[in-house]
Amino acid sequence: MSAVDPVFTLRDLETWSHPGTSLAVLGHPIKHSVSPPMHNAALAALGRTDWCYHRFDVHPDHLPGALELLHVKNFHGVNLTVPHKIIAFDRVAEIDPAARPVGAVNTLRWTPRGWLGFNTDGYGLAAAVRETLGRDLAGTHAILLGAGGAARGAAVECLGRGCASLWIANRTPENLKGLLTQLAPLAGSIPLRGFSPVAPPADLPSGALVINATSAGLRPDDPAPIDLTALPNVAAVFDMIYNPPRTPLLRQADFLGLPHANGLAMLVHQGAKSLEIWSGAPASSTAPTMLAAARAALGV
Ligand code: NDP
Repeated sequence: MSAVDPVFTLRDLETWSHPGTSLAVLGHPIKHSVSPPMHNAALAALGRTDWCYHRFDVHPDHLPGALELLHVKNFHGVNLTVPHKIIAFDRVAEIDPAARPVGAVNTLRWTPRGWLGFNTDGYGLAAAVRETLGRDLAGTHAILLGAGGAARGAAVECLGRGCASLWIANRTPENLKGLLTQLAPLAGSIPLRGFSPVAPPADLPSGALVINATSAGLRPDDPAPIDLTALPNVAAVFDMIYNPPRTPLLRQADFLGLPHANGLAMLVHQGAKSLEIWSGAPASSTAPTMLAAARAALGV
């Protein structure tokens, strides 16, 4: 993958002179990203031979300058990944109304008014849960693990789609409290509760969908973020992590015979939605090509 998709830097951007329409993903680090092969495969399938998607390693201190330079160099669209999603929220000209409660953007499109920010992670989660587990977030009791940026996006999506209840567990109580405070105005009549992952409350709903939005499982020696046997009659488990493809949480779900899926489909669907925002091509039409390309890049 790296031979085909080099990692560029801000210095490369300063002397950038590619013809055609350029797209980019910015992150720090970024070398693990499979977004370039995913998007470039979809662009090729769409016949957009003059479009190309590149990856740039940009330090967060340099994000504002990079966004300005991307415009000067005629980039049409940008994806943002760790740690830029929240930083960029206050740095763009306009925010799509659906992204405002999330407080983070992962997709930018250039407009005459400047960069317009979107968040496609929630769409990606909902589409992936439907595709891999056959479940809708609407009407589902959701147990969400984590209180970081991905958890916030997932929580906003669950509440926005009308989940039956939302229970959030996080290792650090202060971070959980902060997230619950932010979410309270969005919950309306939907029950919203927090708990410690080491002391699940007795009144957790039976038959819930467990969504892992922690980074526990990224490293080989990470613990599972929760013990599934401590939860009542779990219906299914979705882990946002896709590399490695089998986390300790998914291994336990497998052992218990529970339907489970990793985050690869979420990665694909959020990417397909970004491409729809830039090109107008429906996300549903590009997702299969992106999935095949992501699998090939990851070797899974
Ligand atoms: P953040 O750094 O913002 O949040 C990390 C969260 O993980 C916090 O809640 C943190 O808890 C928790 N955590 C970290 N380590 C542990 C541990 N050892 N045990 C228990 N909890 C832990 O990260 P993001 O929210 O941006 O991302 C979270 C995960 O979601 C990542 O793995 C990322 O790869 C994945 N993701 C996948 C996407 C996809 O398309 N498939 C899209 C977006 C994210 P605490 O508050 O206690 O520190």
